[in-house]
Amino acid sequence: MNLTSINTIKDLLTRHGFSFSKSLGQNFLINPSVCPKMLPPAGGEHHVFAFEIGAGIGVLTKELAKVCKKVVCVEIDETLKPILDETLADCPNVEIVWGDIMKLDLKQLFIEKFNQNNEVICCANLPYYITSPVIMRLLEERLPLASITVMVQKEAAVRLCAPPGTRDCGAVSVAVRYYSEPKKLFDVSRGSFIPSPNVDSAVIRLDVRSEKRHDIADEAVFFRLVRAAFSQRRKQLVNPVSAASKQPKEAVKAALAACGLKITARAEELTLEEFINLYNAVFAGNTFIRSEM
Ligand code: SAM
Repeated sequence: MNLTSINTIKDLLTRHGFSFSKSLGQNFLINPSVCPKMLPPAGGEHHVFAFEIGAGIGVLTKELAKVCKKVVCVEIDETLKPILDETLADCPNVEIVWGDIMKLDLKQLFIEKFNQNNEVICCANLPYYITSPVIMRLLEERLPLASITVMVQKEAAVRLCAPPGTRDCGAVSVAVRYYSEPKKLFDVSRGSFIPSPNVDSAVIRLDVRSEKRHDIADEAVFFRLVRAAFSQRRKQLVNPVSAASKQPKEAVKAALAACGLKITARAEELTLEEFINLYNAVFAGNTFIRSEM
């Protein structure tokens, strides 16, 4: 069954009385050139395990099943069950887990579904209403993922891949860069989906860093500082960092100076290393700051 053929899809959806849910971000891929470019390279031994979010009618799931040893996909919409039973009937290596990706215990799921010694990749055409929360969950929970290849809204791709220290960077870009090496792979036009969304898309790949950084004592506090810094992105850092850290403004200015940064610096001007230095200067016992407190 050709799951990128409009006629096949229409027939399938009509036969099963399926109607698209806009609120679940249901825009299904119909461009046959997209899935092959999202897949891991097909090795002779099919050693890779895949984790997908949102099966839809199974267009990407089916392609993953061809090149991966096992595919586990979380899908929230159980009205898709009879459709997926039909479209994935010839894919014994696919398992659909019915549930909400934001609510499931993913650590437990990975333990149950993937042998811990195996390489797992995430590959998905994400529902756009939860793009950043999903990506951050996958990264923050330190799931044993080698890479995350996802289709996102084009503007989100720019933001997620923006190097810290550039204009497009936001708090999420710093977080993504902290946990992974992001790369935009290719654009996908809105006409590649049924129904066609109002926005264009892009596929990005995050190569997840396996090592945890040792120069951040408390990641939650670090990211609170980063989010505060970007809460007023065009303004100087001193005020939001002072408020978030409960340190006097003079202490924050001293921390900026100790890091070799201008006291007028703005969040979008700082690289990841500079954010880490600033966090350590503000929170981790810089003696000059202590004496100012
Ligand atoms: N992979 C299919 C494709 O490429 O055509 C479908 C992609 S569609 C953009 C997103 C899918 O995610 C839909 O099937 C939708 O039902 C599912 N979805 C939406 N919210 C979800 C959630 N919170 N947890 C799991 N799946 C979700």
